[in-house]
Amino acid sequence: MNTIVLTPYECGINRAAEILKNGGLVAIPTETVYGLAANALDQTAVLNIFKAKNRPADNPLIVHIANFEDIEKFNLAAEFPTKAKLLVQSFWPGPLTVVVKRGESIPPAVNCGLSTVAIRMPAHTIARKVIAAAGVPLAAPSANSSGKPSPTTAQHVIEDLHGSIDAVLDGGECAIGVESTVISFSGKTPLLLRPGGITVEQIEGVIGKIAVSPAITAELPQDAPVESPGLKHKHYSPSKQVTLIDATPQEFVKFVNSHSNCGCLCYNEDFDLIKTPKIAIGAKCDYAAQAKALFAALRLLDEMQGVEQIFAPLPLTDGMGLAVYNRLIRAAGFNILKL
Ligand code: AMP
Ligand code: MG
Repeated sequence: MNTIVLTPYECGINRAAEILKNGGLVAIPTETVYGLAANALDQTAVLNIFKAKNRPADNPLIVHIANFEDIEKFNLAAEFPTKAKLLVQSFWPGPLTVVVKRGESIPPAVNCGLSTVAIRMPAHTIARKVIAAAGVPLAAPSANSSGKPSPTTAQHVIEDLHGSIDAVLDGGECAIGVESTVISFSGKTPLLLRPGGITVEQIEGVIGKIAVSPAITAELPQDAPVESPGLKHKHYSPSKQVTLIDATPQEFVKFVNSHSNCGCLCYNEDFDLIKTPKIAIGAKCDYAAQAKALFAALRLLDEMQGVEQIFAPLPLTDGMGLAVYNRLIRAAGFNILKL
């Protein structure tokens, strides 16, 4: 298959919509990361997403909509609890995904046969224009090969999926850089399943105290129950070993400088002090910058000649730091070294 690159103008958007209507796969820009989209109501098209990405068959997809009314129009959800409504009124369109009881029209490939479904309205104008032009909701996981760092540019999508998908719509670099926040309303208390562009603090400011899945910050035992299938899979990993260093900035600098054949992610403040190949991902307290730079930096270090292993400082966990922490501990396969 020849993967075509589409431009983010009317002709590119219409072509993307046409491919999607015909059951094809198109990678589209969103404000979080690039998504690999298919018609969410078409079981065969959705199954092709799993094939193209080599995604584990039990990891459900998020359904993307252009307007809140699409939920009722397409019968996507059986229920939409008040707190979920309050949240989406505050944060949609945006990087927030809500998990609610599935509606009749959700084919089993989308939610892997669960009783729930994940729904999001993206903020990216191009993404919403494609959904509206396709005239159907779009199932869209991140447009990477499963397990690899998520794609934040069209070039990343091409690196992973060229020849396996119909098209990629090039909308430039993603503004947020990590995936959406996922919160489930299937139990009594709202439960955070994945941290992302909307923080716990922002959510609790609207609906009060929420529960946070322990799987966000730690590796669960193999037999532990998981609320979200995606929590148990390998994620975001370059092919080289990543080790997170739990230490002061001074100790981190000394540690990486004492190693050969390594590369590292670092904060802007430490850039000039580090002698190994390095990529600065933002100032230590600028979590938004770190989130935006993270996946591209991991991809770059993975390609760098002479770099055999990757070190990164262990991030803090307040605000959007929690999303950076969550992606990095998974990229590192929970490999943390305390100095
Ligand atoms: P991705 O599409 O790669 O951004 O991943 C989507 C995330 O949403 C995964 O972590 C899934 O496990 C989670 N997810 C999607 N649908 C559901 C659902 N019905 N229940 C719980 N988690 C879900
Ligand atoms: Mg993903």
